[in-house]
Amino acid sequence: MHTLIINRDDVERLLPMPKCIELMREALIAASLGDAQFPLRTVLPVAGRNGYMALMSGQHRGIGAMGAKIISIFPENHQAGLESHQGVVLLFDTNAGYPLAIIDAAAITAIRTAAASGAATEALARSDAETLCILGSGVQAKSHLQAMLAVRKIKCVKIWSRRSQNARQFLDTYNLSPRIKSEIVSSVQEAVEDADIICSTTAAAEPIVKASWLKPGAHINAVGACTPTTREFDSETIRQASVSVDCYESAFREAGEIMIPLSEKRIGKGHIKAELGEVFAGRKNGRKKGAEITFFKSLGIAAEDLVAAHFIWQQATEMTIGAKFSFEGSHS
Ligand code: NDP
Repeated sequence: MHTLIINRDDVERLLPMPKCIELMREALIAASLGDAQFPLRTVLPVAGRNGYMALMSGQHRGIGAMGAKIISIFPENHQAGLESHQGVVLLFDTNAGYPLAIIDAAAITAIRTAAASGAATEALARSDAETLCILGSGVQAKSHLQAMLAVRKIKCVKIWSRRSQNARQFLDTYNLSPRIKSEIVSSVQEAVEDADIICSTTAAAEPIVKASWLKPGAHINAVGACTPTTREFDSETIRQASVSVDCYESAFREAGEIMIPLSEKRIGKGHIKAELGEVFAGRKNGRKKGAEITFFKSLGIAAEDLVAAHFIWQQATEMTIGAKFSFEGSHS
């Protein structure tokens, strides 16, 4: 028996965005229908540093896999030329509990998060959505641009980032088709006010978007804020929008965007309309009206990592990619 060790380049090669969008639909359906189970994540602040480590574990009966993602988040890492998110996904089989693979988590997280937003956008955005706004210019901004281009015919992209030189670098390094108009804008308001799709991928702690700036009919993927005290959108946005989440329990216990308006009594729990998996499975409605603002609060769940990791392991096994390692030593 052996365990496959799969690096970042191989993850990017083996997990193309359109395939991952399909996989995330399946993962979110499995999570909502009870085929995948996962406890709330554990988050450990790193003593003496501006960083933390998160553990996300789960199992998925349908694919016969279980495992965990252990990821560190050090927001200031860019200054040292490192990514802010680093870690591993550990994949085990559910028959005998053998560790099947150890896979780079940064690449899985980048692709699966954007793919989940891609699946949400495919289901919830207006079919004629063509103006895309990306807030932020980091790892998630790049993968979200790729995901949005996979699900809608985008004609114009507006990018805002706190440091405009990073937005410039983002556009310069992204090989965008010349048919798509692109623009770096200097304010969040300018970025969002005529956008049909908004992907917010910043590490902002306080709201950077106000409801009054949004265009009727916009679809929002709110990705950046993942803790009870941080958020990118104001309470009024949540009150006005038709809100979906990846997981109710996580949304009520981890998402500032949901928890703060709840604590202010601006919304009740019933305001959260659906889990995406329920929409994908046809159990709940998606967009009802053209002018409705749809809002997907993404936190990321272990089912997404497991489904992505299992697919990567299958592909790598078939194509003999990755380094083989035996925990049993040289006699195995
Ligand atoms: P990066 O470190 O690559 O990028 C961070 C981005 O946030 C940069 O564009 C930076 O802008 C911007 N930023 C940082 N601080 C602020 C601030 N105070 N106000 C406005 N913008 C700010 O991180 P990732 O792209 O990997 O992740 C982005 C966010 O998404 C993080 O908060 C992360 O925790 C979250 N995330 C969510 C996931 C989910 O499943 N929902 C999964 C993975 C990540 P600039 O460069 O211009 O300074």
